[in-house]
Amino acid sequence: MRHYSTSLCWFRRDLRLYDHVALYHALKHSSIVYCVFVFDTDILHKLSDKKDRRVEFIWHSVHELSLALRKNGSALYILHGSACQLIPQFALQINAQAVFINRDYEPDAIKRDENIAQQLAQHHIPINVYKDQVIFDRNEVLTGTNKPFSIFTPYKNAWLKKLKNSDLHAYPVEKYFSALANQDSLNTFNPKEFTFPTIDLKKAQKIISLSLLGFKKTDLTDLALPLGMSGAQELFENFKYHMAHYHEWRNLPSMKGMSYLSAHLRFGTISIRSLISYAYHATGQGAQTWLSELIWRDFYKMLLYYHPYVMDHAFKTQFENLAFTNNMERFLSWKSGLTGYPLVDAGMRQLNNTGFMHNRLRMVTASFLVKDLQIDWRWGEKYFSEKLIDFDLSSNNGGWQWVASTGCDAQPWFRIFNPVTQSEKVDPNGDFIRLYLPELIKCPNQFIHAPWKLSINQQNSCDLIIGKDYPGPIVDHAIAREKTLLLYKNTKSP
Ligand SMILES: Cc1cc2nc3c(=O)[nH]c(=O)nc-3n(C[C@H](O)[C@H](O)[C@H](O)COP(=O)(O)OP(=O)(O)OC[C@H]3O[C@@H](n4cnc5c(N)ncnc54)[C@H](O)[C@@H]3O)c2cc1C
Repeated sequence: MRHYSTSLCWFRRDLRLYDHVALYHALKHSSIVYCVFVFDTDILHKLSDKKDRRVEFIWHSVHELSLALRKNGSALYILHGSACQLIPQFALQINAQAVFINRDYEPDAIKRDENIAQQLAQHHIPINVYKDQVIFDRNEVLTGTNKPFSIFTPYKNAWLKKLKNSDLHAYPVEKYFSALANQDSLNTFNPKEFTFPTIDLKKAQKIISLSLLGFKKTDLTDLALPLGMSGAQELFENFKYHMAHYHEWRNLPSMKGMSYLSAHLRFGTISIRSLISYAYHATGQGAQTWLSELIWRDFYKMLLYYHPYVMDHAFKTQFENLAFTNNMERFLSWKSGLTGYPLVDAGMRQLNNTGFMHNRLRMVTASFLVKDLQIDWRWGEKYFSEKLIDFDLSSNNGGWQWVASTGCDAQPWFRIFNPVTQSEKVDPNGDFIRLYLPELIKCPNQFIHAPWKLSINQQNSCDLIIGKDYPGPIVDHAIAREKTLLLYKNTKSP
């Protein structure tokens, strides 16, 4: 690669200052590198709820990144506006000879990056794009006939076969920190020199407040989720102590059996290579199972790239026209955690109260919406996309289509979770249920999974009147199950 005098590294879903592929290449091949982050109004304006934990999560991560760059004598330029306008404008203003980014896989992001690349090309500024978010890019793990896989297990086997130690090496950015734009040189730009609208570079070095971004503070800092790249590291260190038990604990929501790193993986405050490397080199069933879950992430990203229609449509076209009943009242009960099925309600309230939901409960609540309430999986997918801090288009869509049996390697349509037996299995003593449903605190273990079975006397003695303190079940699971089986059996292909 040629050497550039000045480059721009644009941070997006990679908010960390270590093992960062684009930054590594920018620093290695340039004399000066400017780092920039854009609070992109093309994305932010679409968020209707101005109290959004994700925006605040990003805000904290950007803040930490900015401080880390400052510690190294440099700065993060923080811009607010349309990235499609600001990135080319900024590149011209600093006289960048190249822009460096890590690849994004979502359809809107791909369009945005193509648009920016075209604008930069008009000024002969190349945009260098790197793989950073995944271990294997969309076209790196294909079948023997060069087609994308549609079944996970053979994909995973091919993925593991392809993996070499060099795929897991960290990109040591710190080795080249001397190329980071120097704080003093940042103030030397004179706006009068430019014939086009310029960005106030001094102002851009300061972290912009949430309110200026048009957002309000949420409860994010009161939650148990440590923030920024330091928070991600803290979570990972904790997880290492119990990774060996992952396969045993991961389905039990009252145990801290998972890593809770999903939001950090979403925003790149942790490096996927560091996680995979640790799991791959560790021995035991826990590490192997965790590695497998991380490979699902690559799998869903690959699927979305090859089949972008899954964003709005069933992967299996025969299930495109399922005649869902889409009862709004039931949908509202599901959203508020008031279905009368305690495990489902605890999961939904965990989502509403914390922006996170345990994986097993994502499966149970999603299944309940689609296969007990006969509500279109796209409604649930959208609700999760608004609430989850870790919302990721490919994994969320993949998860919903898996549960709804419309996805490529999905749960068979005739397999329907029973919300009561699931509850008995994964939360036997109701510890998790009681955490999120305080109204059931005195409910005896024997009834915690199906409290409507309490007699009137028992209801009185545990201060839990069904229909008053907590709803009775909004549907009868056995009847709903039969209806859903018919729905899937009788569906007509488009
Ligand atoms: C209906 C539904 C919706 C989902 N929506 C999302 C979403 O929007 N964003 C998201 O990151 N995950 C989603 N998942 C996958 C999974 O539930 C979360 O990744 C997991 O609960 C996050 O917790 P963790 O970080 O402790 O995971 P761990 O169990 O510690 O796993 C480690 C990492 O592996 C990845 N991973 C784990 N399971 C899956 C999976 N099934 N598919 C893809 N990647 C996986 C995640 O990046 C996760 O952080 C969804 C699953 C379902 C069933």
